[in-house]
Amino acid sequence: MRVWLTIGVVIALVGALTGCGGGAQSGEQRVCSAETFTPNYVPLLERLLYWERFPVTVYFERDANYSDYYRTLALQGFDQWVEATGYVVRYRQVDSPDAAQIRVVFKPDTRNGLTTYTYYPSSGRLVSAKVEIGVRGNNPIDIRSVAAHEFGHAIGIGGHSQNPDDMMYPNFVTNVPLQITPNDLNTVKTAYCNYFIGRTRVAPPPNDETPVEATIICGHDH
Ligand SMILES: [Zn+2]
Repeated sequence: MRVWLTIGVVIALVGALTGCGGGAQSGEQRVCSAETFTPNYVPLLERLLYWERFPVTVYFERDANYSDYYRTLALQGFDQWVEATGYVVRYRQVDSPDAAQIRVVFKPDTRNGLTTYTYYPSSGRLVSAKVEIGVRGNNPIDIRSVAAHEFGHAIGIGGHSQNPDDMMYPNFVTNVPLQITPNDLNTVKTAYCNYFIGRTRVAPPPNDETPVEATIICGHDH
């Protein structure tokens, strides 16, 4: 019953959009609303952003805190989103920071994470992101979880869930692996809904707009 209801909603939505002609020009928000994929925590977010296309390019800073071990853990965290979205969300590692859309750095002085990104305010289209992953304590479960959480921000979730079970709850319990819940997945699907309802995203290039920067701070210390 639930499946049929969902299909009905999607058909109704597509039908409504087809009927409104050129209205899709005004961007992503018309294509999906917070009611399209539920349950979610879209209404709680400060913003919901998106990358124009996948794979998004990822570069790991080779500074004094870098290690292949940390990178492997971080990628396992990122891959949780790749798998949960059925490979809609994808990334590609690059060897140069200049070629990177998402830059990743490891921080030995904290267990928490932090993501800073730039985006076009009118469309929510992401330009760049920097992900900081706390590795204090060297706990592989925690490092993987923090990486997954921060990647959730880096792919567009601009805010946090209020449900402690969700990946995007701001705090975590050490040694308990974070999982992507239906709430988390539906929130990302809302940002990328064109991929999930078979529509092409129509987003006019923002010629005269300057990207703005925002930082999301996560964890117990804040
Ligand atoms: Zn966070």
